Amino acid sequence: MGFRPFVHRIASELDVGGFVCNDSGGVAIEVEGPSSTVAAFLDRLAADPPALADVRHIAVRDIPPEGARAPFRIAETIADGGHRALVSPDVGPCEECLLEFDDPGARRHRFPFTNCTNCGPRFTIVRSVPYDRQSTTMAEFEMCERCHREYSDTGDRRFHAQPLCCPDCGPRLSLVNTAGETLASDPVAGLVRMIDAGLVVAVKGVGGFQLAVDARSDDAVARLRDRKRRDEKPLALLVPDLRMVEGLCQVDAAEQSLLTSPERPIVLLRRRPHPEHRIADAVAPGNGWLGIMLPPSPLHVLLAELLDRPLVLTSGNRSDEPMAHRDRDIAERLGDIADAVLTHDRSIEVPIDDSVTRVVAGRPLPVRRARGHAPRPVTLPWKLRRPILGCGAHLKNTVCLARSSDAFVSHHLGDLSSPSVLAAFRRAIDHYSELFQIVPELVAHDLHPDYLSTAYASQMAGVDVVGVQHHHAHIASCLVDNQTEEPVIGLAFDGLGFGEDGTAWGGEVLVADLGHSERVGHLRPVSMPGGDRATQEPWRMAASHLYAADHERDWGDLSVARRNADHWGPVTDLARTGVSAPQTSSMGRLFDAVSAVLGLRDVISYEGQAAIELEQSVDPAIRESYPVGVIDGDPFQIDGCKLVASVAAGVDAGHPMGQIAGRFHNWVADVAVTCCTLARELHGIDVVALSGGVFQNAILVERVVAKLEGRGMRVLTHQTIPPNDGGISLGQVAVAGASDRLS
Ligand code: ZN
Ligand code: ZN
Ligand code: FE
Repeated sequence: MGFRPFVHRIASELDVGGFVCNDSGGVAIEVEGPSSTVAAFLDRLAADPPALADVRHIAVRDIPPEGARAPFRIAETIADGGHRALVSPDVGPCEECLLEFDDPGARRHRFPFTNCTNCGPRFTIVRSVPYDRQSTTMAEFEMCERCHREYSDTGDRRFHAQPLCCPDCGPRLSLVNTAGETLASDPVAGLVRMIDAGLVVAVKGVGGFQLAVDARSDDAVARLRDRKRRDEKPLALLVPDLRMVEGLCQVDAAEQSLLTSPERPIVLLRRRPHPEHRIADAVAPGNGWLGIMLPPSPLHVLLAELLDRPLVLTSGNRSDEPMAHRDRDIAERLGDIADAVLTHDRSIEVPIDDSVTRVVAGRPLPVRRARGHAPRPVTLPWKLRRPILGCGAHLKNTVCLARSSDAFVSHHLGDLSSPSVLAAFRRAIDHYSELFQIVPELVAHDLHPDYLSTAYASQMAGVDVVGVQHHHAHIASCLVDNQTEEPVIGLAFDGLGFGEDGTAWGGEVLVADLGHSERVGHLRPVSMPGGDRATQEPWRMAASHLYAADHERDWGDLSVARRNADHWGPVTDLARTGVSAPQTSSMGRLFDAVSAVLGLRDVISYEGQAAIELEQSVDPAIRESYPVGVIDGDPFQIDGCKLVASVAAGVDAGHPMGQIAGRFHNWVADVAVTCCTLARELHGIDVVALSGGVFQNAILVERVVAKLEGRGMRVLTHQTIPPNDGGISLGQVAVAGASDRLS
């Protein structure tokens, strides 16, 4: 990122000869001059690289002098087909570009495509490597004379900025209807009028078309939900500046720096009790948090500033589909969703969603890793013998392509049951494979026989294929994310993952390193009455846990049973007979059961809803817990059924919801302590890794970490890779690679 101009600057200052160029393995530099000056050059190269540069390794080699003299040159790219190249993620507008954007006298005043070597689109416009203008979707735009002068001027901050352009030579906006007819001569003013009128508009963002409506308008938000077929899942907001964010939500220092970071993610923030701006209830119904982002591109800056209000901004698709990103898709994909489309003539090569992050225990915890982060590689603790593909899980799928010690985890792809997501999955494998020149020879997949990612792996010809257990992959992803390969106690708490015994796991205590994993404990298995339906209907998990807690007792007078009286008996029968009721040790399903018993959520409309609402119900002052029941054995079991019975007793006794939800979270933290203490006694390990979707729960992570650290244990949590199934592909690569490594 801006590396060649930086090299050129220090070489010019030191008056050495030679050149710098991109090659497909990174950057190649030749310098010639007195040895003390060359040494000074190397010092400065290592000491102060540009803020966004990602220097992994500097290799130095002596070559015979050629008599090269200053001026130092930026040379053409060498396309040698060797090694790897790094493609930068997309970067939000930098401070200097924003100042220029606001300056009425500047050439790029309010120009929606302004960028420089430190900011702008990258991954989404790159067609192939090495990275220069010709290999991006900017190739179609001829630089004007003035831009070319900036591009060639070593002192300019746009020196060799590949997507560089200006109002004279850059992309142009247009406002069209979904039939492609132009609607207004001033596209931005036209769009603002339509948003004012409560219409649903689409905007060509960094990684695809996004849908926007006025967040204050109940009608507009309802219209958007209806057309997008999205019932209750929260919608994200675009807000013009930090001040307005603070008027809506509580923002601490860590959250503020996330909001303004070059990645410009959606940050999950707690709402203020008395916000300065009204937000339609339908934006995030029943949710105490809002997902907010500051403008991720100059085009977004322009819209947000002109509108000066919170705007709903969500991916341009129907629920569960990938984002529309090509203009030729507008009619088909957005035809019955958007009233108008603000588009432009620069194409998007790779569709990519916004990233989502939250702050947990004072540090960022990734929830969805996409724009701004992909395709930055994760470094493996050793070098791979052969290139590997990790096919990921099923929901929240990502793929991971790795060679040597670089693991390129793809951006979030989504739920593979949707045919269009499956197509995006295949395209992502091809694109990453080509971009980073990785032809996999070893392919790792989940053990679940019905995952389409598993089917993809088994259809590949001429490669070795290896299955990796889901929860081992979770823990391995957490180890790699923490740059370690030491043996740990792994707490893998999630929804469902296929276990080695063929049942659905999800409340697992493993002793694991990257190569091996042993299940030393787990939640007591219960049935899922009706199979998949039990995932959609948490009350079924309540019936199942309660039946298992006490076979004799009639639970029919509980409020959850009365609310579901028509089916309570038959569903309990499924639990009793085991017919159509597979076994699970899932922690996610235990959260579901508690949520239903509490009367929070009997049926969900999006994944994780019951657990999210349970977390939000916690009264933070509650310190009490419920007793932890351990069933001895190898592996030992934790009795979650008794816990659900205790919760039911609390509901019966009229305890407040916040108290019960708080006690339950404390119970899960106590479970973590019990499990880790047992595992430490058995295996002498005192490092704990937390992974799985349940560990997106901030209250839980904070309490688990505090309690474990209080017992003298070291706790690893996720840093750059999500704890949910978005991290599985990396974990698969790490586990498969541990047995196929060079050093
Ligand atoms: Zn900039
Ligand atoms: Zn220009
Ligand atoms: Fe999982």
